[in-house]
Amino acid sequence: CFSQIVKHNAHLNAFIKVQNENVALEKAKEADDRFIRGIIKGPLDGIPITYKDNFCTKELPTTCGSKMLKNFISPFNATVVDLLQDAGAIMVGKTNMDEFGMGAFGPVYNPHVITSDKKGSIDQERRVAGGSSGGSAAAVASGMCFASLGSDTGGSIRLPASYCGVIGFKPSYGQCSRWGLVAYASSLDTVGIITRNVLDAQLMYDIISKYDEKDPSSLPPKLRSINTSLASFDKTNSTNLSELRVGIPQEYFVSELSDPIKNLWQQGISLLRSHGATIVSVSCPSTKYALPAYYILAPAEASSNLARYDGVRYGHRSDMDSTQEDELLYAHTRSEGFGEEVKRRILLGTYTLTAGSYNNYFLCAQKIRKMVQSDFDSVFRRPNPLHLIKNGSSLYNRNNDEIIEISDHLREKHNGVDVIMTPVAISTSPKAKNSLSSTLSNSSSCANTNNTRSLDGDNSFVNAYVNDVFTIPANLAGIPAMSVPFGISPIDGYPIGLQLMTQYGDEYTLFNISKILE
Ligand code: GLN
Repeated sequence: CFSQIVKHNAHLNAFIKVQNENVALEKAKEADDRFIRGIIKGPLDGIPITYKDNFCTKELPTTCGSKMLKNFISPFNATVVDLLQDAGAIMVGKTNMDEFGMGAFGPVYNPHVITSDKKGSIDQERRVAGGSSGGSAAAVASGMCFASLGSDTGGSIRLPASYCGVIGFKPSYGQCSRWGLVAYASSLDTVGIITRNVLDAQLMYDIISKYDEKDPSSLPPKLRSINTSLASFDKTNSTNLSELRVGIPQEYFVSELSDPIKNLWQQGISLLRSHGATIVSVSCPSTKYALPAYYILAPAEASSNLARYDGVRYGHRSDMDSTQEDELLYAHTRSEGFGEEVKRRILLGTYTLTAGSYNNYFLCAQKIRKMVQSDFDSVFRRPNPLHLIKNGSSLYNRNNDEIIEISDHLREKHNGVDVIMTPVAISTSPKAKNSLSSTLSNSSSCANTNNTRSLDGDNSFVNAYVNDVFTIPANLAGIPAMSVPFGISPIDGYPIGLQLMTQYGDEYTLFNISKILE
């Protein structure tokens, strides 16, 4: 991994901070010694892992790609970091990201040029790795680590995974603890996994999907066990899909979808059909409102979450005229510390939460979120186990520990589907217009602070938001979704991923079907 980092990181900019090689190798040696003595610390003993730089780690700084947190060292590890370390994982670095997770283009270059066999034939103009977990996707794709933890608020794992040709997995909201993941939009933020194959993602997921009392949105143990008893397509490793029903939502056939992606989607459908699956056209009519609703809700939550960066408690503090009043300290600190996109989101979010616009924007967006969730519930065969909470009284006995009845609307729908298949993105990885600044090779500082990057021929931020159109619905509904590399565009030679989504808590159906596509 370290030799890959030395070879490629200067071109890719995948890391904000690389771990000291001696520290990592010392731990690897300890794992080797254990192995020789027949002792294994856990399923990841000695395995090199990276973390997106919004996961708190005691050993290395956590910057969120922002000047605001440059050099910030957390006094604790995120719960998921502790879980992976307890399983024996070795941290090799913190990966680069769009500031606080806001963006789709990342400050990272796409490694496909160096990993592709067809180097000569592909378009040499540099492409982005995507964002915001672009550093994680690039690091995994180029062999700089075995796996990486990223975060997915609106598609930030699945989009770069699709652009870089790796697996990107966003579990159901509540399955993996968010404690120690720096908040962007708390009701949407999901810890996720980037790997080179589905089995690796499953291995990582089994380690990090644990109840955590420190995260109030963590799925409680009781609901986790109900969840497993509702298993849908659970024929582990079966390639006979005769009982599987695959939904193709009409609303995802948008005019912007490029031909190579349409063709690969069609091939994905044919592949599952050839294994015996029944393909069903389904409708999720609220899909078209999901993107605008997300861009109301996410900035609103971000404006509140980012209020804590005021220069008083931690992070950047302006040294401009410290004798001035407090408000000026706040204003200078925030003007200097946040980048342009973050400021745009804070302004937008603050506006939609004001008394005058709350009903027109925030409340409408919340209603749309509910509609998107109901669309998925009406399409999936498996019931949504979260409804159990609302009907709690009829589901638990007097000791409140056992299901005694499942109400009618929680029974399986025979005409429902087990999995939904769509593209991940409307195009392959966009071209990087501007070269990176000279901070690129300086892995000890916040590598993307001075980066000026935009889409080739189009630097409109609104158009950039459209890239999330296929990934956002899964975040609004909290359901699991996986980006699986499924081919290469014959036009530009860059990877294309297909997205699979299942009912809330139905991660294992997702793994099983993804293994057939990969
Ligand atoms: N592009 C989306 C945004 O900027 C998604 C980001 C994410 O998933 N972290 O909000």
